[in-house]
Order: sequence, then structure tokens, then C-alpha cells
Amino acid sequence: MQTTAHPAVHPDEVLRNLRRIDGVIPMYVDGKWRLAVEGGTRQLFNPANGQPIALVAEATEADAHAAIAAARRAFDDGPWRSVSAADRAAMLFRVADAIDAHRDEFTRIDTLNNGKPLRETEYDAVDAANCFRYYAGLATKPHGQTFDVPAPSQTFTVREPIGVCGQIIPWNYPLLMATWKLAPALAAGNVCVLKPAELTPLSAIRLAAIFEELEFPPGVLNIVPGPGATVGHAIAASHLVDKIAFTGGTKTGRSIMQDATSNLKKISLELGGKSPNIVFADADFDTAVDYALFGIFANAGQVCSAGSRLILERSLHDRFVERLVDRAKKIRVGDGFDPASEMGPIISPIHRERVEGYIATGSEEGAQLLCGGKRLGGPLASGNFIAPTIFAHTTPTMRIVQEEIFGPVLVIQTFDGEAEAIALANDTVYGLAGAVFTQDIAKAHRVIRKLRAGITWINTYHPTYNEAPWGGYKQSGIGRELGTYGYDAYTEVKQINVNLDVEPSGWFSAD
Ligand code: NAD
Repeated sequence: MQTTAHPAVHPDEVLRNLRRIDGVIPMYVDGKWRLAVEGGTRQLFNPANGQPIALVAEATEADAHAAIAAARRAFDDGPWRSVSAADRAAMLFRVADAIDAHRDEFTRIDTLNNGKPLRETEYDAVDAANCFRYYAGLATKPHGQTFDVPAPSQTFTVREPIGVCGQIIPWNYPLLMATWKLAPALAAGNVCVLKPAELTPLSAIRLAAIFEELEFPPGVLNIVPGPGATVGHAIAASHLVDKIAFTGGTKTGRSIMQDATSNLKKISLELGGKSPNIVFADADFDTAVDYALFGIFANAGQVCSAGSRLILERSLHDRFVERLVDRAKKIRVGDGFDPASEMGPIISPIHRERVEGYIATGSEEGAQLLCGGKRLGGPLASGNFIAPTIFAHTTPTMRIVQEEIFGPVLVIQTFDGEAEAIALANDTVYGLAGAVFTQDIAKAHRVIRKLRAGITWINTYHPTYNEAPWGGYKQSGIGRELGTYGYDAYTEVKQINVNLDVEPSGWFSAD
């Protein structure tokens, strides 16, 4: 079911608190607002109706290098290094409070720029504030260890910031992905050069204004919106950057990893997925149907951890699929500003074509299209909408089963018995997430322990907690974000050895 397009929400009203220089939304470098060195701009469009929403400064390598140099100065010579953990925490708590105070504004900025429904972007804004709060709290908690080494030595460790952190993020959760990167890095005392996705820089730029108001020292946070191949590459390859943290596609992750080898910078990669959602015949039927829908169609499937492969026990197949398709057809697709919308558009016309390409491939490969598979027309024709799409009768080698589509496309696989469910679930190069639905708790644990995935759920799909680690096995990434793992990933560990018996070692003769 599709909703009507929402009567005009004026972009200027949503973006009223973003600065303009000569009509262009500027970038934030070294504590200053400025246009791109080479004067480039990018026109942003609303994915729900194709209308222009703002002109944003488009960085090039020159801007990336300026931001990196500013960050380097801020880390090596600025006041930030001597800000105590308690004061850093206090500043980050204030960032969290400011996001809360502007929750409605952040919600609307991300809906305008990304297209997803207000209830999703509001959830993201709440989560972003809580993420800053979590890491503000963690900044002052104990982080070192002591070791029982032979007398007269005493050995302990401290955690220190890594330095200049390059951070590159995707467009699917603009504010939240910026937060997942900035909060732990700053809590640990680092400085940041953040490159938002070129299509969705607005909430990160708005966030920078909050940092400015709260008087973070210049260079501690720099936001450089621009293309990945130039700006992202410059950050990943720079010898002045000590760590690179990336969220995005696996192919891009591979290129960033290669760039990072030049100075062996520390690296964290959060990449793609093709996550299995296994439903056994003894699962609670309505709960499993509900989460199968939520797992793939939340954020129009543009979620790294989406449950994009539904792995169904054969005896349940027909009844489950009938109900699933019936409900998928009823999902209200529409403009994110329409409170009735349950699913928004695809981020861009180019990405929509990519998703449509996969849908065509699925049919060519012989999978059975059960619903969707087409653009939505009528009042939604000017947006990038695709109907919720489900394929059945797939085989494990099909491209639509193996490759990340990153859109509202679910493929169904069928199994007999636990062993086959596990084999199918693990049969991709990815290992980000996975879920099991069954009322047999022992079976749930048996199966979940055999999934080669970093984030798993039993009888639910998608809940994500700031407190718990996030990241993938296999080609879904390297390292973990969130929780204490996310904090540790932004620190170096230093061992400190103290000799309590101060006298010469006598190893070499004094004569
Ligand atoms: P993408 O890899 O195309 O782009 C992500 C970011 O990388 C953007 O900012 C882009 O400008 C930049 N980039 C592109 N090429 C670059 C290069 N050569 N060097 C440096 N930076 C470069 O991904 P996308 O299409 O924006 O996002 C979708 C992908 O992100 C999906 O694969 C999805 O699974 C993944 N993702 C993963 C997670 C996770 O936590 N694992 C979360 C969200 C999204």
C-alpha cells in the first residue's frame, strides 16, 4: 500500500539553523565555517520527491588536507590533550543534552536528507544523544590494568588516545553513524576528521555547530563533506592520520585498507552483510512474521545488518510465506514526513537503479517474485520508491542470495533440520548479523553459536545497544564499535614499568 506524497515541507524551514555562506552550507574545519578551497558545491535532493533541498560545500583533497593539518595541530599542540577525562566527559554530556534539545530538528533534517520516516529518524536522534552520554560516562571509568611482575618492578597499563582519527561514514543513518564514530573517539581524547556520505552531510554539519557553541577547541572536530574517491581516499592515505574508522561497503573497505597500509594506521571497518534470519517451525508464528518484515523493510532495507535472507523450515514455508506477503503488501510506503508512512524511499535514483538491477537479476536467475519488484508511481513517482519485494524458490548460488542488495528485497531459502539451516546461514562471504526464531531455547543457543556472525538475535531482529559491541565476522569487517570495545578501538595501550629498587643493573662491567 502506498501513501500520498506529503504536502511540501520547506527545506529552508528544516535547515534554518544551518549556516550559509553565499547561499552555500559550509564545511567546518579548524573551528571555522568555510567554503571549499576549490569552490565546489553539491546540490542535495530530497529522495522522497526529487526536489532540491540545499547546496553544500563540496570538499576536495585540498580541504581534506587542511582538515587533517588542523586536527594534527589540535592533537599535537592544542589544549585538547590537557583537558581532563572528567572535563571531556562533561563536554560530551553537554553534546548529548544539546542533541536532545534539538531532537525535532535533527529528526527532520535526516528525514529531509535521507528520506526515512520521522519515527525512524527520531529513534536515531534519541540513540545519538544516548551514545554521546554512554561514552561521556566511559571517559572517566578505569581503563588500565596492573600486573604482578617480579620484584622490584611494578607494571601497569594506561590507555591513551591514538591521535588524529579519520572517520568515513555512509548515508543510511547520517546522524547516528557520525555519533558512533565521534563519541568514543572524543571520549578517549582523540581529534577527528569526519567525512559524511556525500549525499547526507546535513546532520553532521548541524552537529558541528553544537560543538562550536560548546567551545570545543579548534581542530578537535572537522567535518569535510565530499566524494569518497577523492576526500575519503585522501584521509585514508594521509600519513598525518593515525587511525581510520570506516563504515560502508565491503569493496570500499578493501580500498581503504589498502590506503591505510601506507603508514600502517590503525583501522576499524564496519562493512556490508547478507544476514540470515532462521525461522523454525516451532517459532511463535506472528512474532516471527513480524520480525521478518521488520528485519528487511526497516529503513527500506538500507541497513547493513538487514535480515535479507529469510531461512524457513520447509514444513512452515507455505503458511509463513502467505502471511508474510500479505503483510508486505500492506506496508505503507511514502514520504517520510507523512506520519502514516512506514517505509521511505531509496536514497538516490542511482541506488534505486542498482536495486532494480538486482530485482531483474533475481527473475532472470529463476527466483519467483512474490510481491513488489517495481517502482511506485502516482503521487510517489517523483521519489525513489520501490515496493517491498520478496523472492521465493531461490538457490544458494543465485546472486540475489549471495550479494548485498541494500534495498527492500527479501530472498527466501528453505531448510530441513538444524544442520542445513546453519549451513545455508553461513554460506556467504559476509558475517555481520543473524537471528533465530524458535521456542526451543536449547536449539536457539545451539544454532546461534554456530552462526559465523558478530551480532545475533534470538526471537527478535535489529535491537542495537550502545552498551554492546557491533561488528562483523568474515568480510563484514574488522574490529568492533560500541560498548567498551568501541572505546578501546580509539586507544593505544601503554605499559609503564617502574623499578622500585633504583640501582645499576650490573649487566656490563663498569671497568
Ligand atoms: P560506500 O562504501 O559506497 O560509501 C561509504 C562512505 O565511504 C561514503 O562516505 C563514501 O563517500 C566513502 N567512500 C567511497 N569510496 C571511497 C574510497 N575509495 N575511499 C574512501 N572513502 C570512500 O557505502 P554506502 O553506499 O554509502 O553505504 C552502504 C554500505 O554501507 C553497505 O554496504 C552497508 O552494508 C554498509 N554499512 C555498514 C554498516 C556496519 O555497521 N557494518 C553500517 C551501515 C552501512
